[in-house]
Amino acid sequence: MLKEEQFRRNLVEVLRKMERLCDEFNRSPDELTLLPVTKKWPSEAVRFCQRAEIMRIGENRVQDALVKQQEVPGMSWELIGHLQSNKVNQVIGRFERIQTVDSLKLLRKLQAGAEKKEVNCKILLQVNTGEDPAKYGFLSEQVDSAFEQALSSSNLLVEGLMTIAPYAPEDPSVAKRTFVRLRDLRDRLNEDFDTDLKELSMGMSGDLREAIESGSTMIRVGSALFGERPQ
Ligand SMILES: *Cc1c(COP(=O)(O)O)cnc(C)c1O
Repeated sequence: MLKEEQFRRNLVEVLRKMERLCDEFNRSPDELTLLPVTKKWPSEAVRFCQRAEIMRIGENRVQDALVKQQEVPGMSWELIGHLQSNKVNQVIGRFERIQTVDSLKLLRKLQAGAEKKEVNCKILLQVNTGEDPAKYGFLSEQVDSAFEQALSSSNLLVEGLMTIAPYAPEDPSVAKRTFVRLRDLRDRLNEDFDTDLKELSMGMSGDLREAIESGSTMIRVGSALFGERPQ
């Protein structure tokens, strides 16, 4: 685990980079949020963020997030890893938002769980715009029916789309294409359904540039803040 001073330096670096890239691509910095990803790191990583007044955290695994929520109260949590539909009852009410809604079945279960607990649940639809067989997410051609179902789920509030680019560090055009497709998809959905989806959760430590250039509104950053992850 890195020292807090190092985390602070990394944070300044990431924030500066966000600012620079917004400037370069004529984006308003107000439209871009940093979501620190603490997966595989202990709760101390969450405390670092809290002390830096960054109050939202992304976690991949439900179980890890629930433990950290106990250890560091007062933060807002977003689920960014695949959610098995049998775990829906563990997440309702405990996450500010589920970014990884990737099947009609999960939509159905989330709606049922939220209705039963009488709460609303914010979601993003995860789309596999990189067409990566190793990734979860709706295929682009499945998104219309998913969005339709989400819109008719009275306890679910769809705020936008999320994607993870295929791993291709030597070829940034892969990430770029993935992100541009997600943005175009959001814009088309807003046209066709007369909606106002805003969020595009896309971009991680290795592809921030392509993400911000393509209209990302939320970058999910782990290693650039906390260093190389333990296995
Ligand atoms: C791990 C992870 C991240 C952060 O990845 P880094 O490369 O460490 O920045 C972002 N999004 C998701 C979905 C992840 O699983």
